[in-house]
Amino acid sequence: MGTETLEFQAEARQLLQLMVHSIYSNKDIFLRELISNASDALDKRRLAGLTDDSLRTDDLHIEIEADKDARTLTVRDNGIGMSRDEVVGLIGTIARSGTAEMLRRLKESKENESAELIGQFGVGFYSTFMVADEVTLITRKAGEDTGTRWRSAGEGTYTIEDVADAPTGTAVTVHLRPKDEEDALYDYADEWKIREIVKRYSDFISFPIRLLKGEGEPETLNSMKALWARPRSEVKDEEYTEFYRHISHDWTDPLEIIQMRAEGTFEYEALLFIPSRAPHDLFQRDGRRGIQLYVKRVFIMDDSRELMPDYLRFVKGVVDAADLSLNISREILQQDRHIQLIRRRLAKKVLSTIKDLMTKEPEKYRTLWREFGRAVKEGLLGEADDQKAILDVSSFASTAGDELTTLADYVSRMKDGQDAIYYMTGESRAQVENSPHMEAFKAQGYEVLLLTDPVDEIWVEAVPEYDGRKLQSIARGDVDLKPDEKPSEEQTGEFAPLLTWLGETLADVKEARLSTRLTTSPACLVSDADDITPTLEKMYKAMGQEVPPVKRILELNPDHPLVTGLRDAYAQRADDPNLPETAELLYGTALLAEGGDLADPARFAKLLADRLARTV
Ligand code: ADP
Repeated sequence: MGTETLEFQAEARQLLQLMVHSIYSNKDIFLRELISNASDALDKRRLAGLTDDSLRTDDLHIEIEADKDARTLTVRDNGIGMSRDEVVGLIGTIARSGTAEMLRRLKESKENESAELIGQFGVGFYSTFMVADEVTLITRKAGEDTGTRWRSAGEGTYTIEDVADAPTGTAVTVHLRPKDEEDALYDYADEWKIREIVKRYSDFISFPIRLLKGEGEPETLNSMKALWARPRSEVKDEEYTEFYRHISHDWTDPLEIIQMRAEGTFEYEALLFIPSRAPHDLFQRDGRRGIQLYVKRVFIMDDSRELMPDYLRFVKGVVDAADLSLNISREILQQDRHIQLIRRRLAKKVLSTIKDLMTKEPEKYRTLWREFGRAVKEGLLGEADDQKAILDVSSFASTAGDELTTLADYVSRMKDGQDAIYYMTGESRAQVENSPHMEAFKAQGYEVLLLTDPVDEIWVEAVPEYDGRKLQSIARGDVDLKPDEKPSEEQTGEFAPLLTWLGETLADVKEARLSTRLTTSPACLVSDADDITPTLEKMYKAMGQEVPPVKRILELNPDHPLVTGLRDAYAQRADDPNLPETAELLYGTALLAEGGDLADPARFAKLLADRLARTV
């Protein structure tokens, strides 16, 4: 095939624009990105060589060649390479799902935030255009005969053509822009500069990175030491951070580093990182997961979901297992007993680390919980074994104050005679806190947990208790805050006809009864102990699931004038046509007070306006 000129996909063009105008001040990282890509390609070639002898080579490496006069810098690997189609697909377009999201957020962001955003998403190969006015990539896929040359100046288009004599692997040549005082562009063709960048960012890369020196012997720039195999005391924090960046594509510093080593019948080493910020795809099913599997220092696969439970999917890192086969497949991994064992141990270790942070570094814990708490709580839906450990590291908003509280702290504040941990679920703190259900609890000084993450609606169904105390929703079933203040028999008798009538008149109500929850509101709605809550009902519907409409119980405040008035009116003139409307208004008010949605707001507004018209 001859030379083709192709256009970058729209998103790619936008990203290039950003690079060309280089809003990210740390331009050194383009070299790290190229080395990182080369290292990935070498991993892939090594893996391919395990099953196909013809692809095997013993000297996998990365070469860097600089030419000061020509102002070029070349990074070359003898890795897996790319076919022509792959070059078009991988380099000309941006496949990563997060990029569109990043560009959208970039547009909205302020100048000083953009660099950080770019860091969060990572831009890989395109970062070369921060320093280059032209980039050439020559590649040949292992096992194929023809190579491909790709070339672009980072504007709207690139050219692509076949080349006959390319070696296996990929070489990227960056033509450096002229040095510009204002731009402070370093001369990246300088040996000392290259040496410094490689040492700083890529020392742990497990293949030699060689700097070519004309006639002389090439100089290997990196130590190639697997970081997880080195004692923690010997490794500098920066080295961990760079390694973290390499595997996570996150440019922020990790929040916490966890190192583990198991010896005995099944040996493995693990180096795990808890990021300091949630990735944008944390709640996407196909989001990238963080654990890489190595076997005896050889990279086997990314994204090993088998090594970490899903609720800890934000944890990044490496597990190097000594006793697995290099040819292990994902299918085998899923069934391997040892892998399951490792997963349990890693999960336990992560949870115990979070617990330590809670007591020793509360600031870090708060960050972690803010970023990842919603994911961690998903674990409460899983195995009972984990539930206690997860509850121990969880914290929740509460009526006790603005800070989040742990369950243990809640329990320590429980009132004499209080036997349950009270909570209420809903969509926002304000909504829950101001809901009528809260009145008596507030009045009597009972603390209530305010659970407003969608996952809260679900896990509370799965977790009956904590530390022997029942978890009890204040908007569900019966509550007996003050048994001695229960409605008297006389009251019950007086209200009985009204309650029966309301239960029959209001189609959305299962039953009407007197309440001990209310102090100032006339009425509230509660779910029956076995029924799903309105928020959960909404969530199911949003997921496209059919749920039969759930009727709730209307609870009345026997001391409220509206309620006593209605009682008397019903006793005197049961067939007054105004009464059903008053009942409807009472129900609608209860729904509004808890932040619920009226089925027919226009009708409610009309009834209310008619009623008000009579009072002005
Ligand atoms: P990322 O590395 O984050 O995936 P890049 O834009 O840097 O994004 O690269 C896009 C893709 O191009 C890579 O995922 C890889 O498949 C391919 N690629 C880049 N560099 C190389 C290389 N040196 N050898 C083989 N493939 C490469």
